[in-house]
Parts: sequence; C-alpha cells; structure tokens
Amino acid sequence: MKDTLKHQGMRNKLAKVLISKGISNAKVLAAIRTIPRHLFMDSSFEGHAYQDKAFPIAANQTISQPYTVAFQTELLELKTGQKILEIGTGSGYQTAALLSLKAVVFTIERQLELFKKTNIFFKKMGYRPKKVIFGDGYKGLPEEAPFDGIIVTAGAPEIPKALMAQLKIGGRLVIPVGFEEQIMTLLIRKSATEFEKKEFGSFRFVPLLEDKN
Ligand code: SAH
Repeated sequence: MKDTLKHQGMRNKLAKVLISKGISNAKVLAAIRTIPRHLFMDSSFEGHAYQDKAFPIAANQTISQPYTVAFQTELLELKTGQKILEIGTGSGYQTAALLSLKAVVFTIERQLELFKKTNIFFKKMGYRPKKVIFGDGYKGLPEEAPFDGIIVTAGAPEIPKALMAQLKIGGRLVIPVGFEEQIMTLLIRKSATEFEKKEFGSFRFVPLLEDKN
C-alpha cells in the first residue's frame, strides 16, 4: 500500500470532521492530516481508514477512532521533547500522533503478536519511539519514571496507582475509566500527594488487562 494524494484529501476531510466535533489544537490536527492511518490497518479496511471509526487490528484489538486519538492527545497538552508513556501500543497510530507532536515516547503492549508486528511497522515507516516494550502497562515503567504525561489507550476498571506515582509534578494522566463504557479522565499531579481530577465524555475502548503474575 502507498500513501497518495487521494489519501491526503481524505485526511483533510477527516480533520474537518474532527474540528466539527470540537478538536481545535493545531498540532493535533496537523498530525491527523499527516499520519497515513490506512497503513496502520489491514489492507481490507483501506477504503474506510479515514472514517472517524475504530477498526479491528490483530489479536482482537482495535485501532482507536481518530476523534479519540485527537481528544486524548489534546488533553495531554504536549510540549516538544516531553517524556510520554503510552499504555497499549496496538497499531501504533496513537504513538505516531505523539511522535508527530515531538514527544519522547515510551510505549507498552501486552499482546506479543501486536508488539512484534507494530515494532516492525515502526522501523519500516521510520517512526522512532524511544522504547517499545512488551509487557503489562498496568505497572507503568518505573525505571523510566517520572513522565510529563501518561496516556492509556484501553479501558481501565480503575486508575492504576502505579501510573499516578510515575507522573511528574504538573504531569498529566489521560485514562478512560470504566467497564462497558469509559469516562475519559484527566488527572493532573499538583504535588507529591495531590491530584486534580477532570472528567470528560464517555468512550468505548477494549479493556486494559492486568497480568496477575
Ligand atoms: N493506541 C492503539 C489502541 C489499541 S487498543 C491504537 O490506536 O491502535 C488498546 C491496546 O491496549 C491493545 O493493543 C491491547 O492489547 C493493549 N493493552 C491492554 N491492556 C494492556 C496492558 N495492561 N498493558 C499494555 N497494553 C495493554
């Protein structure tokens, strides 16, 4: 598959759809206009890649809806060079958005098949996250903490304490919380012990799974 002017045109339209849904951050919209989402998906979905919808990827998982990716990225309020932890690499589309905003990205995936596939894809495309890790993101990545931002791209039954502990003061954790449906939640770390919590609309994600051993 290639990236063509036709795909570019569809991305411009998608960006307009996201603006109509309330996305306003120029850098986030630029990422949507640049990232060739159709290449992150199975070729059978190519014709649908620029619809604002989630689609199946390998291992029973999904590539997030563009609106969701834009919304979560906007909530991070990223600045160039910030250190960001992403839980749930999946197809790598959200990772690419973070890289497009010039973040230093650590990303964790617990499905081996997806981890391998997406790692190869990143290399092929020239996307360079700082580290792609195979493991359980529920625990975060203590050896690289603290982070300016943490973004969870799977539905969490509750906010993992380990992730809160790995935020810098002033850092932002963006996490969908809930079972069937999730409330998009933003936690801002105010001090060692205080967090400000803001809740946004409801979304639907595949579940964040915890490895018990
Ligand atoms: N950002 C991805 C979303 C993929 S769906 C994209 O746009 O393609 C969510 C991903 O989270 C799935 O790939 C799933 O395997 C992964 N996941 C679920 N629980 C996890 C955990 N505890 N640690 C790391 N990844 C997890």
